[in-house]
Amino acid sequence: MPEAFADQPLGIFGGTFDPLHYGHLRLAEEAADALDLGRVRWIPAGQPALRDAPQASAAQRLEMVRLAIAGNPRFEVDAAEVEAARPSYTVETLARLRAADACGTRRPLVLLVGADAFVHLPDWHRWEALFDLAHIGVAHRPGFPLDPAGLPAALAQHYRQRVCQEPSALAAAPAGRIATFAMTPLDISATKIRALLSNSRSARYLVPDALIAYIKDHHLYPET
Ligand code: ATP
Repeated sequence: MPEAFADQPLGIFGGTFDPLHYGHLRLAEEAADALDLGRVRWIPAGQPALRDAPQASAAQRLEMVRLAIAGNPRFEVDAAEVEAARPSYTVETLARLRAADACGTRRPLVLLVGADAFVHLPDWHRWEALFDLAHIGVAHRPGFPLDPAGLPAALAQHYRQRVCQEPSALAAAPAGRIATFAMTPLDISATKIRALLSNSRSARYLVPDALIAYIKDHHLYPET
């Protein structure tokens, strides 16, 4: 990792990326600007713990992340979850990153999630331990208003205690704060893209061209 980035908060962006789309790319890019992140590390899930098996294989989803982020100096990819033959739990991923030979205990880590994922945080394995390991950066997403009154009670309590307005609060501690950020609203989802492709419709301009070609070459989302 280049020296210049080593002390700045590191964004951690996990997802299924089945397939990756411009909503993901803008989330990571705008998070880096809004939250003063040195870099964003993309971590495709191997076997997501809380949802149906993805249509594309873990190796194919990893390759799509590689193709999509190539050339962006703020982005990097972490293949460890894809290579592990077991379900992916974010709390374990973060604990791995906290090891001395990875990021260590002092560097601020910011787990990036969309507002839809944030509401469901209490369903995640050992979710309250996440706050000991990382900050959480929550992106606005069309259709999922970020209203503390609409959060599950235990999460709303954490939200009220931990929310911060300034990105400098994230840089000042390794973990434990919540920051929200507005990103360009993009009503794009992988579900919608899979539906388009399986109905022989175009996903162009929703997904980078390199991925359109990869999806076609590998027959990833065939017509049904
Ligand atoms: P699916 O439709 O298959 O559920 P998805 O498009 O939500 O997929 P994921 O890989 O599940 O994509 O999402 C990874 C992360 O990106 C999640 O935290 C999700 O909230 C966020 N995200 C995905 N798309 C958007 C978007 N258009 N705007 C904001 N956040 C998004």
